[in-house]
Amino acid sequence: MKYLSTRDPFVRVTAAEAIVRGLSAEGGLFLPESIPQVTPGELRELCALTYVERAERILAPYLTDFSVEELADCVRSAYGTQFAVEDIAHLALLDENTGMLELFHGPTCAFKDVALQLLPRLFAVSAQKTGAGELVILVATSGDTGKAALEGFRDVPGTRVLVFYPSEGVSPMQRLQMITQEGGNMGVCAVAGNFDDAQTGVKEIFTDSAVIADLSARGLAFSSANSINWGRLVPQIAYYFSAYCDLVNTGSVEFGNKVNFVVPTGNFGNILAAYYAREMGLPIGKLICASNQNCVLTDFIRTGTYNARRDFFTTISPSMDILISSNLERLLFLLSGQETAKTVDWMNSLRKNGDYTVPQDILDKLQALFWAGSCDEESTRDTIANVWHKNAYLCDPHTAVGVDVLQQYRDATGDATMAVVAATASPFKFVTPVLEALNGLVPEGDEFELAERLVAETAQICPEQLLHLRDKPVRFPSIVEKDGMRRAVSEMLD
Ligand SMILES: *Cc1c(COP(=O)(O)O)cnc(C)c1O
Repeated sequence: MKYLSTRDPFVRVTAAEAIVRGLSAEGGLFLPESIPQVTPGELRELCALTYVERAERILAPYLTDFSVEELADCVRSAYGTQFAVEDIAHLALLDENTGMLELFHGPTCAFKDVALQLLPRLFAVSAQKTGAGELVILVATSGDTGKAALEGFRDVPGTRVLVFYPSEGVSPMQRLQMITQEGGNMGVCAVAGNFDDAQTGVKEIFTDSAVIADLSARGLAFSSANSINWGRLVPQIAYYFSAYCDLVNTGSVEFGNKVNFVVPTGNFGNILAAYYAREMGLPIGKLICASNQNCVLTDFIRTGTYNARRDFFTTISPSMDILISSNLERLLFLLSGQETAKTVDWMNSLRKNGDYTVPQDILDKLQALFWAGSCDEESTRDTIANVWHKNAYLCDPHTAVGVDVLQQYRDATGDATMAVVAATASPFKFVTPVLEALNGLVPEGDEFELAERLVAETAQICPEQLLHLRDKPVRFPSIVEKDGMRRAVSEMLD
């Protein structure tokens, strides 16, 4: 399997190169030249397997330059006891036709762990194959990726991790998780501004020839652990297959029947993985894209115009506070019939004018696959409270956005197909809005007092790794302006 770039028709690289480089030199995103197929017979076989075995089978045709043993080693060590549940991506039922795919049982309590426990292991093998030197993993985070990358790459030989997070927006627990991170190969720095400022800054540094020259003089090269890296996206395909198998095994779905997936979306990585699962042959009906008040994707999927020139809202679901949704570029490339020229035009228009419009035929294809809705702050809180009171299920705000948009979809279409909502974070990472939702009052106290109160009120278990943050010293207090990011990179590398 070779990998193409969304922006240059002449690029063709191996999986290992795509993973090591993260982003193609001209700024395009890598993606596989074809989509491997899973037959119904193979899908039935998957149902009898463990999560690790399912992941090995789904990943293998994408990573053909990895040997069976290499891939098995990576997958087995990624999905071990660092997850609090044996089935890794645990499927819970909210009611008889709604499943919750709990992706937050990893070390940092967000779905990013499922990819970021595996990615560093894929990196190590890929770096060996490509003869890459030491890699600097540059991360822009809206809250969860940063911590998951720090944890995944902690003390991995041949790598350093530099994380930029927006000073406005991440939850106090998310910030604490990052600034107290242990390990010798990392740096963390706040950027004054929002996630788009941090992400745009990181993308510029990535392709800045002076910075790259400075790095190569030190024997270093950049790579990415954001979902622009294919190695970050591919592990996520596996859990859609796994969820389907679990539904079949528990009798919730008859084998072969379709399931809808609802994905709380920001950078469009997680839902793009669901799209790949569908294209591989998983019986998926609609892919439901759930946004918070930053509803740029909802508007795009409904109208065909992507317009990022709008107010940015800092919400209680900060990991979805994004106006430039990077992975959409991959989908547009695919829906346009792999036309780099069109993709480049749209991306240039987005950069220069802040918007682009796709033609009707692409919009038709998009709407045949996707349905989109958004959920404001009040509805997010109402949903947390309603789901708790009605189903005794405690959602974090991101997951609540998904549950609300699923209800919107059902009301609008009458489609009662079994639907699975990706539950993307633990409610204990967002204790303030969750308690506010349950009690109608903004709670007072520090994160740990509030976590204890949430335990007392709901009898849910707070993940230990969050409680332990209380006693950890702050290692990374710095904050820089956006134009100070370049200097921060070289200082963190010194
Ligand atoms: C990252 C994140 C999202 C958004 O996922 P994308 O792949 O960026 O669309 C949603 N919820 C949580 C909790 C996240 O951390």
